[in-house]
Amino acid sequence: MGLTQKLQKTLTIVVVFTILLSIFIPGCPQKHMNQENQNTAVAETSAADPISIHQKAIAVDMHVDTAQRLLDEHVDIEQQLSDGHFDAVRAKAGGLDAQFFSIWVEPQLFGIGGAKAVKRADDQIAVVRALAEQHPETWLLATSAADIRRAASEGKIGALLGLEGGYAIDERIENVKRYYDLGVRYMSPAWSVSTSWAGSSGDDVGATRGLNEFGKNVVREMNRLGMMVDVSHVSDPTFWDIVQTSTAPVVATHSACRAIADVPRNLTDDMIRALAKTGGVVNVIFYPEHLEPGWSQKKKQVDAEIATMVQDASAAESGDAVHKKLARDRVRQREYVRRLPPVTVARIVDHIDHIVKLVGVDHVGIGSDFDGVQITTSDLATVADLPNLTKELLRRGYSESDVSKILGGNMLRVMEQLSH
Ligand SMILES: [Zn+2]
Repeated sequence: MGLTQKLQKTLTIVVVFTILLSIFIPGCPQKHMNQENQNTAVAETSAADPISIHQKAIAVDMHVDTAQRLLDEHVDIEQQLSDGHFDAVRAKAGGLDAQFFSIWVEPQLFGIGGAKAVKRADDQIAVVRALAEQHPETWLLATSAADIRRAASEGKIGALLGLEGGYAIDERIENVKRYYDLGVRYMSPAWSVSTSWAGSSGDDVGATRGLNEFGKNVVREMNRLGMMVDVSHVSDPTFWDIVQTSTAPVVATHSACRAIADVPRNLTDDMIRALAKTGGVVNVIFYPEHLEPGWSQKKKQVDAEIATMVQDASAAESGDAVHKKLARDRVRQREYVRRLPPVTVARIVDHIDHIVKLVGVDHVGIGSDFDGVQITTSDLATVADLPNLTKELLRRGYSESDVSKILGGNMLRVMEQLSH
């Protein structure tokens, strides 16, 4: 018997033995999967029920843009909505335990600082806090890992706050604490427009702009308070300045891998390694443009094709600038589904796999960007479909313990470090 045959025989014995073990010993603990025993892991997990594994895990989504819907559209997310990607009914169906609501100040409408930007952030924080206060049977306003665990044990959803773009701190260091005191637990220094103190991946100035001294002081103040620094949307120089300045784990709340989908919003392999070294987590976004190779170029073509249609919808809307944007987005939603190739949950897991291969399973999580994007993957289209992610992870050989880390366990670990 050659060496290969011996190995095959040994593997067969291991697989058979594992199946027998899982049959005769209820709750036989699943071992951590690695590349060598992937076949064994598949045999173990195929005996387990994906839905019960999903329900058992504490699922924490790091990013949705539903706060703007609450504020601008006055949607009642206690009911199942017929549009959008997120509400309490679908979140419960999807087994979600905690949701970070993005507090997003769009610079084009509200400025990169000043009273309007501050008010826009404060108004969104107020609607999320009101949601939790008015519906304590559904929501638990959370600021820590302990709060999230309590929400999960009480069958509620933890509602958390994150600032997307540092516009609302209005270049004043004391405002970092002001937002911390209002419950904000992460902040990205810039969204798609650079500030004077932090470069964005979305504009030209960001290509060379990192953090200036004020920006570094903002990161230090966040570290001191226990507010996570989010690198999603920042420029490459800003990313490196953050990693070098922060003394706490750094996170990306909704990003993916540039090695698979080459867009500036995504992280290079070197960045993923550096972020993991801080103890942080890359939370993979569910947005096709950041997941699928070549999709971004196709979307640009479609944007050109539908430009007139989008403008007409905007002109026909009699409301304010926010409602005109909503009208434009509705056309995009409809036309992207019609004109762009579908992307599936398997592609999300390709990004998770890539990160796991680079830095291990302790540094990956989820950040859907639901309600912040005009199109989602076909089989993880709304929060209700979250169990499909677990099914795909299990199908690829991830163990129950791995799934639990990816769905939220890794972020709970980071948050526990912050509060110490
Ligand atoms: Zn974003």
